[in-house]
Amino acid sequence: KFTALELVDAHIKQAEKEKRLNIYITETFEQAREKAKIADQNYQDGKARTLEGIPVAVKDLFCTNGVKTTAGSKMLANFVPTYESTISKNIADHGTIMIGKANMDEFAMGSSNMTSYFGNVINPWKAKNSDQDLVPGGSSGGSSAAVSGFTAMAALGSDTGGSIRQPAAFTGTFGVKPTYGRCSRWGMVAFSSSLDQAGVFTRSVADSALMLQAMMGFDEKDSTSVNKQVPELLSACEKSVNGMKIGVPVDLMDMEGVSPEIIKMWKDSIEMMKSQGAEIVEVKLPHAKYALPVYYVIAPAEASSNLSRYDGVRYGHRTEKTGLNLEEMYIATRTEGFGEEVKRRIMIGAYVLSASQIEAYYLKAQKMRRLIANDFQEAYKKADIILLPSTPTAAFGIGEKQDDPIAMYVNDIFTIPASLAGLPCSSVPVALSGKGLPLGMQLIAPAFDEYNLLRASAGLERAARNIDFTPGGF
Ligand code: GLN
Repeated sequence: KFTALELVDAHIKQAEKEKRLNIYITETFEQAREKAKIADQNYQDGKARTLEGIPVAVKDLFCTNGVKTTAGSKMLANFVPTYESTISKNIADHGTIMIGKANMDEFAMGSSNMTSYFGNVINPWKAKNSDQDLVPGGSSGGSSAAVSGFTAMAALGSDTGGSIRQPAAFTGTFGVKPTYGRCSRWGMVAFSSSLDQAGVFTRSVADSALMLQAMMGFDEKDSTSVNKQVPELLSACEKSVNGMKIGVPVDLMDMEGVSPEIIKMWKDSIEMMKSQGAEIVEVKLPHAKYALPVYYVIAPAEASSNLSRYDGVRYGHRTEKTGLNLEEMYIATRTEGFGEEVKRRIMIGAYVLSASQIEAYYLKAQKMRRLIANDFQEAYKKADIILLPSTPTAAFGIGEKQDDPIAMYVNDIFTIPASLAGLPCSSVPVALSGKGLPLGMQLIAPAFDEYNLLRASAGLERAARNIDFTPGGF
């Protein structure tokens, strides 16, 4: 009924119309139109690939050959990679067309997209009877807003402690990150290497199945890439959840700082899963309550190590001050190039790794990480999937929580346990809050069981199909 060029053009028009949302750091509209013409030719020649002509947004931490890749930082504001990340290459090889590089929190550190050097992203959603701009979540906030605001059909994101699931929940989109090791990290700007994992945002579970199918797979260029057969995923979206055992970690229901609306959504989704034929079982995650402090030791530790490469010598920002010795040049470069949140994490990380503190903090956190992972293994003896909210609240206002790092970190309370355990997980939009904002439920599967993750996600999606997750006016 329409050509790839028409499809791509429609999304470019929408991106131009919604410029105030600040979704893209770099737009690649012209290249996109050229590729769309090739896609149309492929359709005509009967050579169309599975994602031929599909317009996508790419989070600005996937290196893209010849296209600026900033990681949302002044440090990389003018960095043009000479190579392509494995994940962005994988999807392009299946026919996707990049519309632009999506805005993000600086080096993926944040939950609101407010730490981007290129300005914050605005959520396409607004609360009922309110004109206040809301955050799209973070760190993949440009990606979530791109899909929710109809400027792309799918968007690549990355999730270290919740950066796909939380923004998906805040924008009424479906977000999923597979098992650690499924998606190659090669060519992805590193934040916390033992946690970083690529994933995707789409408007439906089935769309994500197609994207993940293209993204996942072994890559010899990433030493933590896992060489394991990738399951076929599309059929999972149609398979009933009849007989599946859904585990509810009841011990997390009375956690502090969780809005009553979220608890209600949680209880409602239990009923929704039952209505789809699933069986509900109670499980316990007794160490999950320590996940937040554990993450905020491990992630900064790895970040402080990863970010030491930005020294103003090899690439990235370099101070223009002259007459400095080497150490002064490093200091001036890093002082100018990094934002406040990144500096805070580098300092915490350097501290917890220092010789006098490593036992007390970093090694202790590693031991706790193991206990958290063990809790999940225990829970999966009873359950196929674990069901809990994605976030403790709906999307909040721009600027809120910004001067209180701890309040911001609490956003990650439900998402971090699965990240520490390396498990595949998703966020499914299931309800609207009293103010009319989308809320998302999180599903977590055992390692490498993306099949059942999507199967259960699609079950929940079916149960919520009478709710419209299109933001007002879009
Ligand atoms: N909000 C979390 C943080 O600030 C998670 C970010 C992420 O997953 N990249 O670290």
